[in-house]
Amino acid sequence: MTESVMPTYGRLDVTFSEGKGAWLTDTDGKRYLDALSGIAVCNLGHCHPAVTRAIQHQAETLVHTSNMYHIALQEKLADKLTALSGMDQVFFCNSGAEANEAAIKIARKYGHSKGIDKPVVIVMDGSFHGRTMATLTATGNAKVQVGFDPLVPGFVRVPYNDLDALRMAIGHWPEAVAVLLEPVQGEGGIKIPDSEYLAGVRAICTQRKLLMMLDEVQTGIARTGKWFAYQHNAELVPDVMTLAKGLGNGMPIGACLVAGNAVGILQAGNHGSTFGGNPLACSAALSVLNTIEEDGILGHVNVLGKQMLEGFQQRLLGKAGVKDVRAHGMMFGIELSMPCAELVKKALAEGLLINVTAESVIRLLPPLILNVEESQMIVDKVSKLVLEFLSSQQVESVA
Ligand SMILES: *Cc1c(COP(=O)(O)O)cnc(C)c1O
Repeated sequence: MTESVMPTYGRLDVTFSEGKGAWLTDTDGKRYLDALSGIAVCNLGHCHPAVTRAIQHQAETLVHTSNMYHIALQEKLADKLTALSGMDQVFFCNSGAEANEAAIKIARKYGHSKGIDKPVVIVMDGSFHGRTMATLTATGNAKVQVGFDPLVPGFVRVPYNDLDALRMAIGHWPEAVAVLLEPVQGEGGIKIPDSEYLAGVRAICTQRKLLMMLDEVQTGIARTGKWFAYQHNAELVPDVMTLAKGLGNGMPIGACLVAGNAVGILQAGNHGSTFGGNPLACSAALSVLNTIEEDGILGHVNVLGKQMLEGFQQRLLGKAGVKDVRAHGMMFGIELSMPCAELVKKALAEGLLINVTAESVIRLLPPLILNVEESQMIVDKVSKLVLEFLSSQQVESVA
């Protein structure tokens, strides 16, 4: 281990050297079943052959030119993303935070176009939008913000999954121009809103002429069993949608898509990115989208997601210390009534990669290409770890 890497992460004591499908191998040759996919990035599993081939081919052909020129693969990817989403145009960047920065810039310029000098973007409690100054300000978690004052002005926060609070905030802030939210809060603890919530937000935004901006960085690219999570609501299309994580299966790429009132806001010179949408990243993303289509991944996620949720519920629901077991497609949250971060290390020791977020929620984002056997291994291993943890906790609280 070196001291030359800035210590911005609390890292687990393991180094992986190889990956294939849902499995990783560490430098000692030990194998791990990956139930996190690098946080919803490697949705097609590690080193998916089609994506690897696309990257190899493109690396030998053309890696980077510049957005000063036309980029054929970028145009092809934009056509594909707009066809899949029902949105109109795409700006490409390199990460989720950057995609959200683009969204926030669109919201502000949209406000200025309406004569609002100090536009306000409404954001949610418990949200996560990234680590740049604007996106950490938009994030509803004080831990991300502490030490970085002054934050960026122009954000107002409301409770998630609360349409009345949203209406009230909009009534209170005539400068409000946009609402930025996640269809399911991932970092916030796999918080799944009521089934009518997103449609409610859409209706309010349409009525008040605010941009509805969905951060699908974690929920997008088949994770919930649709291409994008908002598509579970018939006929709902946001004005802005941001993507990253699963879009490149590990190749860094982000995207900000626009429709409706958000189209035409950003013009030449308003925004840019040196790397954004370069041929290498776009070739990887195109192969991801094609593979999801060709391999019937959406149907697979719906079937397997339901089976795994039922498995977790059978083993864990009703047990003392288990508050909730929930899922949307293959985003799983097992909420305990106590902090359980130590489960991550226990799982690692047993060859399983999981995550705990919001202190007490076990978050699982396994590769979408899991087979039935692997999915049952995850259900069995995680359930066993949780039950062992809960019984050890009870022993300690008695002693
Ligand atoms: C991970 C994440 C981001 C930030 O993405 P980066 O690529 O790390 O900048 C933003 N929004 C959501 C919902 C995320 O899950």
